[in-house]
Amino acid sequence: MKRIGIIGAGFSGIMTAVNLINKSDSSIEIFIFEKENPIAKGIAYSPYSKKQLLNVPSAKMSAFKDLPDHFFNWTKSLDQYKDVDDSILAGAFLPRYLYGQYLEFVWNEALVTAKSKSIQVKILRSNIIDMVRKDSEIELIGDNNEVFIVDYCVLATGNLVPRNQSIENMDFYESENYFQNPWKIESVENLNKNENVLIIGNGLTMVDTVLALQERNFKGIIYSISPNGYHILSHRHAPIKYNKLVEELPDVIDLKTIRNLIVKHVRSVRKLGVSAEPVIDSLRPFSQNIWKNFSIKDKREFLRKYRHAWGVARHRIPIHMNDFLLKLMFSIKLKVFAGTIKSLKENNGIIEVSFLEKNSKTLEKIFVSRVINCTGPESNIKLSDSQLLKNCLEKGIITQDEFCLGFNADPTNYELVGKNGEVQRNIFTLGTNLKGIFWESAAVNELRSQAENLANYISQN
Ligand SMILES: Cc1cc2nc3c(=O)[nH]c(=O)nc-3n(C[C@H](O)[C@H](O)[C@H](O)COP(=O)(O)OP(=O)(O)OC[C@H]3O[C@@H](n4cnc5c(N)ncnc54)[C@H](O)[C@@H]3O)c2cc1C
Repeated sequence: MKRIGIIGAGFSGIMTAVNLINKSDSSIEIFIFEKENPIAKGIAYSPYSKKQLLNVPSAKMSAFKDLPDHFFNWTKSLDQYKDVDDSILAGAFLPRYLYGQYLEFVWNEALVTAKSKSIQVKILRSNIIDMVRKDSEIELIGDNNEVFIVDYCVLATGNLVPRNQSIENMDFYESENYFQNPWKIESVENLNKNENVLIIGNGLTMVDTVLALQERNFKGIIYSISPNGYHILSHRHAPIKYNKLVEELPDVIDLKTIRNLIVKHVRSVRKLGVSAEPVIDSLRPFSQNIWKNFSIKDKREFLRKYRHAWGVARHRIPIHMNDFLLKLMFSIKLKVFAGTIKSLKENNGIIEVSFLEKNSKTLEKIFVSRVINCTGPESNIKLSDSQLLKNCLEKGIITQDEFCLGFNADPTNYELVGKNGEVQRNIFTLGTNLKGIFWESAAVNELRSQAENLANYISQN
């Protein structure tokens, strides 16, 4: 009997289990550990607002690589979408809570299959805080001291809470008016509607937070501060499939050459009134390979110079959401600054935010009553709040890549590579933990393939 422990019941953990169930017989036993989120939904698909949307059109959100219409067909089976034109529905950005319901459906079907095959599946509400290797067995230790023994372990721990940004007075982060976790409803509740709010960061979570504040009839000004203050982009040219760049793409390419290629192609489409979007999108199937073949120097330079611009180009929002943000900006309800926060000083519930404005290079001040951290998931374990990952790092079970983007692992089967380059037999990971290896390793598109590959490997070895 193979005992398989999966830590984390978000998309990655659950889809690993679904694929294991589909590929195996009664010779496996699956234990799934989840510390806080609804099973199968994880952080992304258990949003606190029904208005928060997927950032990928529904046609591209199937949980299964080989069944590309699986999610689309499921949505078609729902009353609210059955009469919608297929092409409109396929291109729509549907609510994330709905995708959570879809994953619940996928999971329930897998449980039926498991029962029919007599595969034992146990879901445990437990925060795993440590791991001990004992010969071929692995002991997983819960925060209530319970010990679970498995033969295979999958770290599907997903998105870590954003890190506190470095400021002069780090003690501010103890304030009850500071919200480090933007995915919890508390971050937008119990707020004086007429006071102002600072959102640190300017990406997709900022958009979710702005939406949630507006939903609560918030009347104050929402400030957003990020290093570059780039305006978030919308999906303007989704139907255009651009092929010209990839025709010129060699198997291995350095940063300078790919940068020049992109600039050349973006210039050429812009002359015809088309944005960079289709050019950037055309690289998506190749970006993992490009990143893998970059030298360390190229990776470092990319992270220093282009990381934020790439993030903006890649992570876009539906047009109607963009219009909504623009309206808020025109009516001065949303102000986006480029700059670096120097200090956050609180007095009687009023927080003075001092930041160095990027363009004017002057020290500016704004006043808010709440600060919400929307800087994105943390990737450096040492700066995270995960006791499990910190313990594994200390023991050398996990090691991180040079830039602390993720864990070192075998790129073919995702088995961890620990201290001194030692392969950690039968301890695997997937998802954002593989960002250092693949760069693009967070969206459903990547995770569904990883979950399937991993299940294939475990069921055959
Ligand atoms: C707000 C948001 C929106 C997104 N929207 C999209 C989108 O529209 N389309 C898209 O393709 N991708 C989207 N993504 C990317 C998203 O990360 C993936 O699609 C996917 O949800 C990641 O799933 P995961 O299981 O790897 O991680 P998570 O969803 O983070 O799940 C990990 C789970 O592990 C649990 N866990 C962690 N440590 C432990 C422990 N020690 N013990 C027990 N349990 C533990 C956590 O509680 C959590 O539930 C979004 C991400 C976020 C954060």
